[in-house]
Amino acid sequence: DGPQDEIGQLTNTINSMLARIQVTYSELEETNIAQRRFVSDASHELRTPLTTIRGNVDLLQKMWKQIESQSSVIVDGANNQFVVDPFSNREKLSVSIEAMMDIASEAARMSRLVNDLLSLARADSGYTLQKTPIVLLPLVEEVVRKAQLLPKNAEWRTGDLSALYQIQVCGDTDYLQQLLFIFIENAFKYTPSGYVVLEAVCSPDQIGLRIKDTGLGMDKDEVPRIFDRFYRVDPSRGQTAGTGLGLSIAQWIIDEHQGSIEVMTRKGEGSTFIIWLPIFKATLLQAY
Ligand code: ADP
Repeated sequence: DGPQDEIGQLTNTINSMLARIQVTYSELEETNIAQRRFVSDASHELRTPLTTIRGNVDLLQKMWKQIESQSSVIVDGANNQFVVDPFSNREKLSVSIEAMMDIASEAARMSRLVNDLLSLARADSGYTLQKTPIVLLPLVEEVVRKAQLLPKNAEWRTGDLSALYQIQVCGDTDYLQQLLFIFIENAFKYTPSGYVVLEAVCSPDQIGLRIKDTGLGMDKDEVPRIFDRFYRVDPSRGQTAGTGLGLSIAQWIIDEHQGSIEVMTRKGEGSTFIIWLPIFKATLLQAY
């Protein structure tokens, strides 16, 4: 082998190393962009309720100052003059109450958002669930009971859950309840009339929890994106209650359980989500 060959080999090695560095760099760049977008989306989402809260607190302070002074004359700062206060104390009180209700609901929204962000931050930091064998039925029954308390326009039904009696999965009870609840809550949010039904379905090695609604549904091509952080189908359809993070948290919980999600949906007709979980142990009833 002459020095020519050696140089040739060396050049090849360097080239392939450069190519690998290039790939790693673009991957890093992509994660960076995704992270920056996440942070900026999150800040935006947190800023919106904060603005409402601060606006309402200002309004409240103004109202209370006026009520306290019991004055029928107020300073019109903009025109630098005294004018007769056009509002009675009763009116001021009712404006105050409305402002307080706005504050309460926006604060609740912020706290939902912060909780969701914390769950995702925990997932991003590589947190893994401590899983143990769990009988599914009591867990699901607890969620069914909680779901009755949700604000809803649709009827809440439970179908056949008997399959759950004999099935154990390996999982984390709290997270599995949160997972099921995310889908039920969504079903109610996006179902203005009709019903939402929960059922258990079984395959040889997996147990499925099926949440079916007769609600708004969505276009098929939206489906892959609904699991993205902050993604919402047609944000104009009054989704202020949501954070756009529910399904990304659901996806993480499912992945942690080595499960999968099946989605069937049709715009204007409704959606069906099936949460598939691997069966850890099944005690089959004797058939005769
Ligand atoms: P959100 O807090 O907005 O509900 P999610 O991540 O839970 O966020 O869901 C993302 C989007 O997927 C929702 O904004 C909604 O557009 C759509 N979606 C989720 N579940 C349903 C459903 N059962 N019916 C119709 N659309 C749904």
